[in-house]
Amino acid sequence: MKSTDFNYISPHSIEEALQILDQTEGEVKIISGGQSLMPILNYRLASPQLLMDLQGISGLNHVNISASGTTLGARVRWVDIEEHTKLRESQPLLCAAIDHVAHYQIRNRGTIGGSLAHADPAAEMPGLAVALEGVIHLVGPQGSRRVNAENFFLGQLSTCIASNEILMSIELPFWPKDRAWGFSEFSRRKGDFAMAGAAVWFDLDKSGAASNVHIGLIGTGEKPMRLVDAEAKLNGQRLTGHLVLDVAKECLGQMSFQSDIQASEKYRRALMVEMISKAFAQALQPLND
Ligand SMILES: Cc1cc2nc3c(=O)[nH]c(=O)nc-3n(C[C@H](O)[C@H](O)[C@H](O)COP(=O)(O)OP(=O)(O)OC[C@H]3O[C@@H](n4cnc5c(N)ncnc54)[C@H](O)[C@@H]3O)c2cc1C
Repeated sequence: MKSTDFNYISPHSIEEALQILDQTEGEVKIISGGQSLMPILNYRLASPQLLMDLQGISGLNHVNISASGTTLGARVRWVDIEEHTKLRESQPLLCAAIDHVAHYQIRNRGTIGGSLAHADPAAEMPGLAVALEGVIHLVGPQGSRRVNAENFFLGQLSTCIASNEILMSIELPFWPKDRAWGFSEFSRRKGDFAMAGAAVWFDLDKSGAASNVHIGLIGTGEKPMRLVDAEAKLNGQRLTGHLVLDVAKECLGQMSFQSDIQASEKYRRALMVEMISKAFAQALQPLND
């Protein structure tokens, strides 16, 4: 199937883009990399009268690394992240996760802003935004606002972006060099969406106890989430594989998982336990060497 007819416009500034959104409310759809939107249009799940392309607007594909953190513009593509050597140092967990996104044709076009706005709970970027405590910057006719990633995602394919707003960038807090982290995901084929994924990080105090434990889950539930019960149980502890496994089993045992043609609820839960264990094993590996 092909999309219904639409008009196309490519503004050259954010001001112009906001004006277009304001004047054509409800009839216009923003397009960035098109890798999620075009299939939606071709399946006729959406039929906007106008597509507004962001690629003519300069300043949306910046990567700024500073002492306070890292800011990534909405039009930064997966391939830009892959090839940015300094980003691999300033945000290693993000880069490791983005290595799992899709195939190279999609990586050459797909963008951070598109993925965050699309809000697929099986996608890596929304999960990482929540796990890393990212802050999302939006602009609209009333000015700009900053939203914590945790509050940005409302449900499956649903966010708090208003129809006349544009996602500009995401800020990720400063990442200390000695922070422990790990990422693990399972998909049926390389580059497919994750059936289950876990992004974990923590700091260690002088006694070797973990603090600031973060566990981000990908591919479960209606929206990206953190496993806060498990984080609370692991904070202040000297982490071992056995402890992590017990805590993950206990906390995931209380959660419901989707059951569908691809996998039963039991399988999905067991897979997530495995992903969390593997991510912590990766995080603990340098400490055990
Ligand atoms: C075969 C295939 C496999 C894939 N596998 C994966 C995978 O493994 N992991 C993964 O994470 N993703 C995967 N994707 C999705 C891919 O990463 C997309 O690129 C991404 O989800 C959307 O980014 P985009 O730039 O293409 O956005 P678009 O498709 O252009 O837009 C997506 C949505 O976001 C809105 N939007 C875009 N930019 C903005 C903005 N700045 N402000 C407000 N709204 C905006 C659009 O209106 C639209 O609703 C896959 C896609 C395909 C086709």
